[in-house]
Amino acid sequence: MTTLGHHYIGGRRSACASNRPLFSLDAITGERHAVSFFEASDAEVAAAARAAYEAFPAYRSLSPAQRVDFLEAIADEIDALDASFVAEASRETALPAARLEGERKRTSGQLRLFAATVRRGDFHDARIDRAQPDRKPLPRPDLRQYRIGVGPVAVFGASNFPIAFSVAGGDTASALAAGCSVVVKAHPGHMVTAEYVADAIERAIAKTDMPAGTFNMIYGTAATGAALVQTPEIRAVGFTGSLAGGRALFDLAQARPEPIPVFAEMSSVNPVFVLPSALIGRGAQIARELAASVTTGCGQLCTNPGLVLGVRSPEFDAFVSDLRGALEQAVPQAMLGAGIRDNFRHGIARLRAVKGVEVLVAEELDGRIGGHLLKADRRALFESSALEEEVFGPSTIVVELDSEADFHAFARTMRGQLTATVLASESDIERNASLIALLEEKVGRLLFNGYPTGVEVSDAIVHGGPYPATTDARGTSVGSVAIGRFLRPVCYQGYPDANLPLALQDANPLNLIRLIDGVPTREAVRATQTAEATS
Ligand code: NAP
Repeated sequence: MTTLGHHYIGGRRSACASNRPLFSLDAITGERHAVSFFEASDAEVAAAARAAYEAFPAYRSLSPAQRVDFLEAIADEIDALDASFVAEASRETALPAARLEGERKRTSGQLRLFAATVRRGDFHDARIDRAQPDRKPLPRPDLRQYRIGVGPVAVFGASNFPIAFSVAGGDTASALAAGCSVVVKAHPGHMVTAEYVADAIERAIAKTDMPAGTFNMIYGTAATGAALVQTPEIRAVGFTGSLAGGRALFDLAQARPEPIPVFAEMSSVNPVFVLPSALIGRGAQIARELAASVTTGCGQLCTNPGLVLGVRSPEFDAFVSDLRGALEQAVPQAMLGAGIRDNFRHGIARLRAVKGVEVLVAEELDGRIGGHLLKADRRALFESSALEEEVFGPSTIVVELDSEADFHAFARTMRGQLTATVLASESDIERNASLIALLEEKVGRLLFNGYPTGVEVSDAIVHGGPYPATTDARGTSVGSVAIGRFLRPVCYQGYPDANLPLALQDANPLNLIRLIDGVPTREAVRATQTAEATS
C-alpha cells in the first residue's frame, strides 16, 4: 500500500499541502515516517461533514441486505490486509504483532456481529398499535414506530486500540449498521494504520456500490476535532479516549445551536473489592492473576484494575506482599508513545504526593515501563479524589480498609466506572447484597471472581457506565447494543400499509409474530428468536 497522507472526502483523496504537516512517529525511536499528513483546514472539515450529509439519505435507504454486504465486505478487506499493516501498526504504537493480530480479528468479528444484527432486524425495535376505530370515547389511529439512523456521525478513536477502537472500530461499525454515514477524525498516534483501514473501507464501498461519502476520514489536531463536532451536518459523536478529550467534545456539542448526543467512552479505575473470604487459601493466586491483569498491554487498557480494596488482616498483608512480588517481576514494556509515558510518570508523581499514599513498586528499564504498585490508607481513599483518577499504564493502588463497612462507604460515593469486580465466595455475595446493589448503580459491568481486562464482543456485553466512565450511561461502545446509540424513533400515524417501511408492514412476518398491539411479550420474543434461528 502507498501511504498518501491525504483526507478521504466524498470518495476522493485530497489535502491542502500548505496546511500544517503532521507526522507518524515510531513509538519507540520517535523517528518520522517518510510521508507527511496534513491538518484538515476548516473548509476540508466542512467538506467531509457535507459529503457525509449528502450520502446519508441514499445510504440509509439501502436494503438491510445491502448494508450487511457492506459491513461484511469491510470485515473481509481488513482480514485480507497483508503483514505490512500489522508492521506499521506496531511501529506506530509499539504494540506487539500478536496483540495487533488479535485486534484485527476482533475488529472484523465486530463488523460481522453488526452485520448479523442488521440481518436480524430487531434493532429497529418495531412497535405496532393497531387502529381501534370503535374505541370510546375516541377512536385510536394506527400507530407504528421503528428506529432509524440519526444522521452523520463523527468518530474519534483511542491510541491504545489502533484497530478495534479506531477507524473501523465499534463506533464506525455501529454507526454504519444503523444506517448513518461517518466522518472519522484519525488519531494522530496511528495515522498510517488509519490509512490502511480507510483504504480497506473504500475498497468495500467500491465492491458493494455504496454512495460516495458514506465514509470519510480527515487528519488533524484537537482543533480539527473540535471543528468537526461543531459542524451542523454532524448529528452524533462517538468518542473513545481520555476524560479531558471526551469532556471537551461533549461540552462543545452541547453548546452548539443544535446540541447533539455525544457517546464518549472515557476513563475508569475499575475498582476491585477483595472480600476477606477471597483471601482464604487463594490470596497468592489472586495476586498473580491481578498482576497479569494490571500489566496486560503495558496497562494501557481502559479496563485496567487501578484500585484494589481490602480489609486489614494478616491475609491482606500476605496478598499485598505477593502482589508486590508479581509486579516487580513483570517485564517492562514500551508504552504507546513518549506522551503517554510522560503522562504515566506524572500520574504516579501526582499520587505519590497524596498524604497516606506510598509507592511500593516502580519498575522502569531503558524507558520501558514495568509494574507499579502503590499502597494507600483509608483516609487517602476517602479524603482525596486523586485515587479515582485514571493513571493510564501498568499501575494499581491497594487500599487497606478498616472493615467491610468501608466497602459500602466507598461504593456509595464512588464515581461511575466501566467495571467493578468482586472477589469473594458465593455466600459472601449473598451476605453483601446491599454492596452489589450499590455497585449496580455505578458501573456498566459487574464481575464476580474474574478480572476486568478483556472485553468480549457479543450481544450481552456492556462497555459503558455512568459519568465519568462515559458521557451517556444509556449506551455501550462494545457489542451489538452499541447500534442503539445512533438510532432514533420515528412514528407513522394512519399510513397505508404499502407505504410503510418494510419493517413496519403487516406483511413482515416478524411483526406478526413479535407484536401484540405493540407489546413484545416474552413468548412472542421467544417465538421470534426461534423463527429467526430456523429461517
Ligand atoms: P485522547 O488523547 O483523549 O485522544 C482520543 C482522540 O480524541 C484523539 O483523536 C484526539 O485527537 C482527540 N481529542 C483529545 N482531546 C481533544 C480535544 N480537547 N478536542 C478535540 N479532540 C480531542 O485519548 P488517547 O490517549 O488516545 O487514549 C487513551 C485513553 O482512552 C485512556 O484514558 C483510556 O482509558 C481511554 N480509553 C477508553 C476506552 C473506553 O472504551 N472507555 C477504550 C480505550 C481507551 P488529538 O490528539 O489530535 O487531540
